[in-house]
Order: sequence, then structure tokens, then C-alpha cells
Amino acid sequence: MAAIDDLPPLREVIETHGLRAKKTLGQNFLLDLNLTARIARAAGDLAGSDILEIGPGPGGLTRGLLAEGARRVLAIEKDARCMPALEEIAARYPGRLQVIEGDALEIDPLTHLTPPIRVAANLPYNVGTELLVRWLTPKEWPPFWESLTLMFQREVAERIVAAPGSKAYGRLAILAQWRASARIVLDLPPQAFVPAPKVSSAVVHLTALPAPRFPADPAVLSRVVAAGFNQRRKMLRASLKGVAPGIEDHLAAAGIPPTERAEQVGLEAWCALARSVAAAQ
Ligand code: SAM
Repeated sequence: MAAIDDLPPLREVIETHGLRAKKTLGQNFLLDLNLTARIARAAGDLAGSDILEIGPGPGGLTRGLLAEGARRVLAIEKDARCMPALEEIAARYPGRLQVIEGDALEIDPLTHLTPPIRVAANLPYNVGTELLVRWLTPKEWPPFWESLTLMFQREVAERIVAAPGSKAYGRLAILAQWRASARIVLDLPPQAFVPAPKVSSAVVHLTALPAPRFPADPAVLSRVVAAGFNQRRKMLRASLKGVAPGIEDHLAAAGIPPTERAEQVGLEAWCALARSVAAAQ
């Protein structure tokens, strides 16, 4: 297949800069630039958007995004060892790549970006899940982003797109599907990464809806749903007892039988429950 750019192959970049993968940073690198270009295309309109990339590492996805025509990429990477490799990419694409060294959980990238903004990332799954929940639960909606294109362990990706009644259905599905549309766009086997992780991965693409599907306060919805699924085999009147006094009345107001289990309750009813709890606070 044709090279996507005239920079050195990623294997060489990793060798030159001594980027041996660190387990503590959840480093599993994608070395196939045709694959990273495919992930970049899944992110949608690149030419008309600023892209926030979290965890660029040696820059495989970064190069995919730039080669596919991203207007600008802001990349936040915690590992200082990756900076020289990323600077080489920035030099190849003048004015289009800005790199910030630091922890994405602590940096506010918004001052560096111009809307419309899309997010693309291949992150360790715990950081990815934490950021996803933050991106889905701001007080105001629509959020700063138009879309999120994120790599997860396949099992986490399934939790994001899960339907009520399924084993994977829980807080992630409800928060994601409440304010966004979410689908799995690409499956990747462990061998796509160096080093190969134990499990398969998948890319999830989320598009922000103009407004949430049902009204609810994000903090209350998040709290109610977390409590409901914390003891997912219990009846809701038991698992939600600590959430608000008179929880049976709130369940009734939302049309949820008190003996129901969390995984049987659909998005609309969870939002109704969150509204009833919020109104009584
Ligand atoms: N994007 C590259 C790729 O696809 O080959 C690297 C992916 S690797 C799974 C995850 C990257 O996220 C690593 O480069 C790691 O150093 C970085 N990372 C881990 N935690 C981070 C954090 N809290 N903030 C920013 N980057 C982080």
C-alpha cells in the first residue's frame, strides 16, 4: 500500500527515539499508518475541524489525521519521551500540529482550539472511560465537541453501545446514548498493536446530538444510574434506597415498577427518575 506521508516508518521512529512501550502509561502502539488513516477517516469532516488528540504516543494516529487533511491537530501526551518524535511531525505539517506535554485529565485544551472540534484518541482504557464520562456530562449541552472517535477494549466499546436488557447495558450506555449517537465503526485484533494487548479493541464513534434525547440533570442522572447498576441484580427499590428519601414514590413517578432491575430500565425512564429525584431536592 502507498505510504501516507514521507516521514520515517513508525518502527524506525520508535527505535530512533527509544520509545519502548511503558505498561504504566498503557502504551500499545499502532504501527500501521494505513490503519491509523482509516481510523482518522472514521472521525468525520477533518478538513473543516480542529482535532483534539489525546495520547498521540509516537504519532501513528496523529499522522493519519494530518495525512487525511485535518485542519489542525492539538495533541496532549503525558510521556515526555514522545515529544521529539511529535516535533518531527509538527515540522512536516507547518502550523497544523500543536503538542502539549501533560496529563489530559488535568489540562483544559479549549483555549487552544477553534470550533468545530472533533476528538480522536487511542488511550489506556481507564483514562479513556474517565474522559468519555466527562465529555458526556457537562452541565450545558451541546458540548465543545461535534464527535468523539475513541479506541477502547472491545468489551468497553460494547458497554457504550449496549441496549437495555443486555449484560453490557449500564452507566456508560445510558450516558452515551442520552446525549449522543454511538456506534462501533472498526474492530481491531490484538496483533494490530505493539506490544499486543490480551484483548481485542474497537473504535467507537459518537456524534453529539443537538439536544439530549430526554431532559435530565447530568449530575443527578449519573448518580441515580450509578447507584442502580452498582448492585445490578438487586431490585431498584433496594439499590436506590440511599439515593433519595421516598425512592418508591420517585420510581412510581417515572413509571418504573419498584421490583424492576436496573438493566431492564430504558433511557426515557431513567431520565424521568432523575427528574423526579432532582425536583424533590
Ligand atoms: N495514539 C498512539 C497510537 O495509537 O499508537 C498511542 C496509543 S497508547 C494506547 C496511549 C497513549 O496515551 C500513550 O502514548 C500514553 O503515553 C498516553 N497517555 C496515557 N495516559 C495519558 C494521560 N493521562 N494524558 C495524556 N496521554 C496519556
